[in-house]
Amino acid sequence: MIADKARFRIIRRLERIVGYRLPLSAFHGTTLEAISSKLNFDQLDPTTREQLLAFFDAFLKCKCRDSPLCGCPERKFTRLIIELRENGLDHRQISGYLLDEFGIDIYPADLLSFLEDAVHVFEAIRDIACIQQKEGLQKSVEAHIALIER
Ligand SMILES: [Zn+2]
Repeated sequence: MIADKARFRIIRRLERIVGYRLPLSAFHGTTLEAISSKLNFDQLDPTTREQLLAFFDAFLKCKCRDSPLCGCPERKFTRLIIELRENGLDHRQISGYLLDEFGIDIYPADLLSFLEDAVHVFEAIRDIACIQQKEGLQKSVEAHIALIER
């Protein structure tokens, strides 16, 4: 999963604040729980604090009982990457955006291969939609493919 490749640049500082070691992945359950437990962000500089709050707002706001371990954060992250690509950002620009906005490091090459895989998934859905003569779904999936591939 692409979310597994996302890492906080300030992971060491976060560890000092929570007082225990955190996994490398920003979307690992332990990391998500540390952030959603509203740890004391006051020790952080304003930029980092903004980034963590933006991360919280974008990925950790759901009403599931087992939040943040419900899968929503990873799904929202995956959807955001596709949306950014469909809005015209390339894999390098998406990487830069995620760093600016959330303090997340993710390699452009990982984003590129994720987007290529996403196209293959959409193509498989399109083929099934075609076989089942679901024209509306087929057209909508084709539009996604065109936006990602342009
Ligand atoms: Zn959820």
